[in-house]
Amino acid sequence: MNRPTESSVLGTLIGGAVGDAMGAPFEGLWADSIPSAESLAASFHEYHGYPNGQYTDDTQLTLATIRSIVDQKDIVVADIARQIAELWRHHSVIGPGGACTQAAEHYLATGDHRNMGASVGQAGNGTAMRTAALGLWFDDQKSLIPTVADISRITHQDSRSVAGGVAIAVAANQLLSSSEINPRDFCSEISDACRDINTELADLLQQLPDQLNDDGILDFIAHAGQSTPEFDKPIISPFVIPTVLASIYSILINLDSWIGAVTFSIRLGGDVDTLGAIVGALAGARHGIDSIPQNLIDCLQDSKEIEVLATRYHLAILTQTGED
Ligand SMILES: [Mg+2]
Repeated sequence: MNRPTESSVLGTLIGGAVGDAMGAPFEGLWADSIPSAESLAASFHEYHGYPNGQYTDDTQLTLATIRSIVDQKDIVVADIARQIAELWRHHSVIGPGGACTQAAEHYLATGDHRNMGASVGQAGNGTAMRTAALGLWFDDQKSLIPTVADISRITHQDSRSVAGGVAIAVAANQLLSSSEINPRDFCSEISDACRDINTELADLLQQLPDQLNDDGILDFIAHAGQSTPEFDKPIISPFVIPTVLASIYSILINLDSWIGAVTFSIRLGGDVDTLGAIVGALAGARHGIDSIPQNLIDCLQDSKEIEVLATRYHLAILTQTGED
């Protein structure tokens, strides 16, 4: 694989933050309550009294992870765990998920990063929401899979969530390194990477390309992994399996456009700050920083700090010395 360009690294971190901030005001809403793609692209919408362009936990945990790698010049799982947990010490997490909160509180009470992840049965998307940028670090999937799995286990022990974290990192890696994306090959690659961790997500990823032109695809995605669907109408819950499938779907049918992919994902409804964060990062890895509307970057909170961190992460990727 070619090493990522600075534009791709900036696109991943800024793109994830912009997508998160675009979706945040609409978290939990049904699709028909979400504004048009044009309206989402025109400016950030107001989010519960926060400043314009405020991102949430998805970006905060991503930035904590990348800050650790930049500081350590390597991936040190114990330090990533510490940096993530520190966010909770300062009560600064915006819209945190339950599993991540439990994990951080466990770490702050015990200092134990090996057993801090929320227990099996809690299969939220708190892993997948923060792993896209990790996909840029690795040359090959042999090293990516076990390392991103360990980073995912910081917050979640459930194999569905661990596989979801790996899936999004592999997706970013593929989007960066493959000039042509064929949906079947792309999904197979991601599925194969997940299979030893969780066969259910691997099987569903394998089935996704056959559903792409099917009218029932939103029901397939929204209800995936659930024996009894929670809602009749399709909506993307914070459960990791629908989140990962919806993110990959949004990318595959909007392969040429950052704004097209991100607005499409947010307009699916449900956990749309997380969908915006994941799809914004994946599309940013592929298309680079120049694909993201400047009017949104200009209004993103902390955009300069995120740019500086992305530039340092790019340098760390190019000069990494540890076994990746
Ligand atoms: Mg969030």
